[in-house]
Amino acid sequence: MSSKYKEPAPIKDALNPLESMMERFDEAADILGLDSGIYNALKFPEKSFEANLTITMDDGSIKVFQAFRVIHSALLGPSKGGIRYSHLVNSQEVKALAAWMTWKCAVVGIPYGGAKGGIKCDPREMSSGELERLTRAYTNAMQDVFGPDKDIPAPDMGTNAQVMAWIMDEYSKVKGQSTPGVVTGKPKVLGGSEGRFEATGRGVMVSTRTAMGKLKINPTSSTCAVQGFGNVGSISAKLIGQQGVKIVAISDISGGYYKKDGFNIPEVIEYINKNNGTLEGLQADKIGNEELLTLDVDILVPAALEDQITEKNANDIRAKLIVEGANGPTAHKADDILTKNNVVVVPDILANAGGVTVSYFEWVQNQIGYFWTEERVNRRADRIMKQAFEQVWQVSKRYNVSLRTAAYILAIDKVAQTKKLRGIF
Ligand code: GLU
Repeated sequence: MSSKYKEPAPIKDALNPLESMMERFDEAADILGLDSGIYNALKFPEKSFEANLTITMDDGSIKVFQAFRVIHSALLGPSKGGIRYSHLVNSQEVKALAAWMTWKCAVVGIPYGGAKGGIKCDPREMSSGELERLTRAYTNAMQDVFGPDKDIPAPDMGTNAQVMAWIMDEYSKVKGQSTPGVVTGKPKVLGGSEGRFEATGRGVMVSTRTAMGKLKINPTSSTCAVQGFGNVGSISAKLIGQQGVKIVAISDISGGYYKKDGFNIPEVIEYINKNNGTLEGLQADKIGNEELLTLDVDILVPAALEDQITEKNANDIRAKLIVEGANGPTAHKADDILTKNNVVVVPDILANAGGVTVSYFEWVQNQIGYFWTEERVNRRADRIMKQAFEQVWQVSKRYNVSLRTAAYILAIDKVAQTKKLRGIF
């Protein structure tokens, strides 16, 4: 029987990012010979919180939204990780994303644990007032979870600097003191950092450039396809383009776009800013998502959703180098196929760690109340990204494993050692 109370059934995800995370964790844990007690301690999240947020919509109706915050680990420091607003958010996904944050922070060596939050909602369908009420309700519900020395949120898919400003404001009001360090990715006037907006894309570019150097790929004779044109995709495309690489394909929710001679990315960014944030109507050959992923390009940057490269299309990928701008764009089962085909993958927990690195800088600046120039932020972030890349590269050579397995080995080893040092009661 149909009921007006019933929401349409969600499209069943064919793949589960948590499974992909677990499989890789197991592989690295095996290589490290991880003690089974420590293994269990690191595999599962330390804590998870769920809330049902009740909001009055603009039309006067009342709606309830499911919200999550998962703290995978606070071993290396306060837990850190973004908040995702999407109608696909679910507890499994948030758990996987939280664990990825732990490994990501460990790979780049910043003193944070990992967390992730999410609200199941469609931000595109909501007004600014509705989003503000939802964000304030979420912050209220999580007031004892968040904290500048406990758990520090940041932007992720579907959220932005404005959402971070509401979190900062609501948290500061509830606690009765201005607390900018409770959240990163804020607008600059509220204590946001120079360079944070571009940080993830910049880290993707640095990873791409470093990998191209290792693989002897010449930027000026190379082509690249970028899947997703949000903050990460658009800025990665712009900055990789500035290295001389031709960006021949881009995409967003409206589809894929191809130009043999390459896009002028700053112009495309201007276009979407005037066009409701979408690529719809862009003058170029229209292509499908699947076609974009399997184009004959040198570099592929998946910067959209999880599980885009799977065992079904991995064999058709023609790029020599994949740099993961998104979290979890490659499903576990595709890993071996890509390795067998000599496709080098710079994994998400390394490639997109530039964002959380500059979040760390933002938090440091908030804690000391002194702000750095953009030049200083970029220089320090670039150095961290290059060093992390080099370490992962060395581990991959030492164990003769992919860069992904190497990144997990590096991260899990660091977190496991910390666990042992801190002790278990
Ligand atoms: N959401 C981003 C990520 O997945 C940034 C997290 C942060 O800055 O804390 O890395």
